[in-house]
Amino acid sequence: MELKNLDKIVALCKNRGFVFSGSEIYGGFANTWDYGPVGVELKNNIKKAWWKRFVQESPNTYGVDAAILMNPRVWEASGHAQGFSDPKMDCKSCKQRFRADNLIEDHSHGKVSAEAMTNEEMETYIAENKIKCPHCGNFNWTPIRQFKLMFETSRGTVDGEKDTVYLRPETCQGEYVNFLNIQRSARAKVPFAIAQIGKSFRNEITPGNFIFRTIEFEQMELQNFCKEATSFDVYEDYKKQAHQFLLDLNFKDDHLKFHDHDKLAFYAKAACDIFYLFPMGWSELNGIHHRSTHDLSRHQEFSGKSMQYVDPVTNEKFVPNVIEYSIGCDRLVLAVLCEAYDEETLENGETRVVMHLHPALSPYKVAVLPLQKNLSEKAKGILKTLSKEFMCDYDEAGSIGKRYRRQDEIGTPFCVTIDFDTLEDDTVTIRERDSMQQIRLKTNEIVSYINERIKF
Ligand code: ATP
Repeated sequence: MELKNLDKIVALCKNRGFVFSGSEIYGGFANTWDYGPVGVELKNNIKKAWWKRFVQESPNTYGVDAAILMNPRVWEASGHAQGFSDPKMDCKSCKQRFRADNLIEDHSHGKVSAEAMTNEEMETYIAENKIKCPHCGNFNWTPIRQFKLMFETSRGTVDGEKDTVYLRPETCQGEYVNFLNIQRSARAKVPFAIAQIGKSFRNEITPGNFIFRTIEFEQMELQNFCKEATSFDVYEDYKKQAHQFLLDLNFKDDHLKFHDHDKLAFYAKAACDIFYLFPMGWSELNGIHHRSTHDLSRHQEFSGKSMQYVDPVTNEKFVPNVIEYSIGCDRLVLAVLCEAYDEETLENGETRVVMHLHPALSPYKVAVLPLQKNLSEKAKGILKTLSKEFMCDYDEAGSIGKRYRRQDEIGTPFCVTIDFDTLEDDTVTIRERDSMQQIRLKTNEIVSYINERIKF
């Protein structure tokens, strides 16, 4: 299978306003990224599609938007305060820092998993395979050391009396600490899920590959609270739903694969990821984990609050099991861009770059293009009407062919062209991105025509 070229996608993102380097005028700030006008639309549409599927259309699923800064005891209960670290190695020649497991996985193009390896095994593998520094090409490593991943900040106004607090490294603790609140206020019955979209922060050793691994990112995830007896059915069901969600967003099935974890956390009963064939090879896109009663039991222990649920029919009292489904929003943005990116050779021999985005995800649903400048008044009237319904773009610069190309590159599914006939009979040409076919429509038919074709 031919891999997409990441450099071309990064360049297009910068040129067309999907994603820029963070703090660029100051020389950037490594591995931070800012979403531009079309990027923010794409990202918001991805979040909307996810929320619609996993909250709006999912019975017994409740949303939450929890605080990023949490009581530090949360991170003791979750184990992050003690153990959230990665195995790092420094290149002694160029002083760059890398994650040992990533070095192995990148070197083997994802064929060897370092998940179950000890630090000693990783060091041996790196030595035996003479894995060189990806930055300077030398083979000159320090031994592996563990590297703390949580970002610290402090709370309090008086120096010397400040308390350390952490930027959350995962969103899911916000669901666990609200389990009782939501169960009570929504009168939720097990099995039920709590879903959240929000920012997480990880002081990653080897961020990189554009927005694949960053130090600040958004997660879209849910925790399903269920009985032990049905927990594996719930786990299998989320595997199916997670896969179907990606297929429905136009992912090709042979670009996706399930990967069962080689090594389970001591409390976990099952764990798998969905891998996507990114330009740099097969890599994790999302995870589905059976976390047993671990999370709620730990919060019960550390907070002193009972996390037991009483079954209203049987009166049975138990701490629910948790099934987690988690997908990185920025990582999904990258996967969506890679999957959609295409270079097509047209009949006239020219190449067109086109983003075959699912129309529900497209930043603009329609672009309004007056054929000539003196049609702009009519075109702007149509734009005003359409803008009440959709995000629209407007472009009157350059030949119509060039304008179509610009919209193809950002994945706009429809272009509406205003010509002199529009003034006579109130019709426009509407051109579809993928087929490039054009039809004539009455202006008052445009909204319903587009609405029917952009549903998710
Ligand atoms: P990885 O092995 O890639 O570091 P992980 O197994 O630590 O990921 P989880 O903690 O399960 O990831 O987080 C769930 C999802 O959040 C991941 O599947 C991924 O899509 C996303 N994610 C995790 N870390 C990052 C990051 N640093 N940058 C962007 N997205 C991330």
